[in-house]
Amino acid sequence: MNERVIGVDLGGTKILAGLVEPDGTVERHRETPTPVTSEADVLAALDEAVRTLRDDRVVAVGFGLPSQIDQRTGTIRGSVNIPLGTLDFRGQMSDRFELPVAVDNDANVAALAEHRAGAGRGSETMLMFTLGTGCGGGAVIDGALYRGWAEFGHIVVEFDGLPCQGFCHGRGHLEVYVTGLAATRVAQELFGPAADSHRLVRLANEGDAEAREALAGIGHKLGAGIASMCTVFGADLVVVGGGFGVAGFDWIEPAALETAKRDALDAAGENLRIARAELGTMAGLIGAGLLAFDAV
Ligand SMILES: [Zn+2]
Repeated sequence: MNERVIGVDLGGTKILAGLVEPDGTVERHRETPTPVTSEADVLAALDEAVRTLRDDRVVAVGFGLPSQIDQRTGTIRGSVNIPLGTLDFRGQMSDRFELPVAVDNDANVAALAEHRAGAGRGSETMLMFTLGTGCGGGAVIDGALYRGWAEFGHIVVEFDGLPCQGFCHGRGHLEVYVTGLAATRVAQELFGPAADSHRLVRLANEGDAEAREALAGIGHKLGAGIASMCTVFGADLVVVGGGFGVAGFDWIEPAALETAKRDALDAAGENLRIARAELGTMAGLIGAGLLAFDAV
């Protein structure tokens, strides 16, 4: 019998879990709400998600979490939006299931999924920028998932610029210029208080020159962030994902590539392409599964 694994993507509002084959194919998946009540309730919901899907072919379980994770120990150091505090997550889960368990943050597993089963297939070094309400990042360097921070949303693209979002006390960070929230801010300046990022993208698609210019402005800022990261890591491919990144890709990408090629060192940006993410909301689940295969 062919081995397969269970991938679990724990999000702020839902738990997506599925049976993942070695090539990243998802055979069956289920979606349940994320409990917001307590840590015990979250762990119980994850337990139930795995037990419901488990069969004789399942050899490991992988989790993508919205958390800071110490990779050496598999310990959670804290989480955004969900009640998971400091916790020996990998240890507890492998005790529960008596299976190898892999765990990483949601952005890293999404990058792994795109690299192995999505837009990044065949790429050596791939950087992923996820543009939703926040800006996440993940990197595959020389074919291997980079297990460090890769918080591309919090690199500085403008000294002393706008204050960053949420808990972050920095200024001029990429996140504040390139997310769906940033696009809504720009849309409201241009088209009034009822406008948002969705309308901005729709107007651009319909040929509105101002909307296209606004999205290109976002693309140039993204390109500056891409340039800096390429100069550090080198990259043949940047994948842009997330709800806003995917929807606005056609108008963001040309500007981002132009600025990235201008501002990265020649050799580092020489072969750079920017591609739209392919796996959508399944990326976290698939990536968590692929990580689990690596743990077997
Ligand atoms: Zn920040």
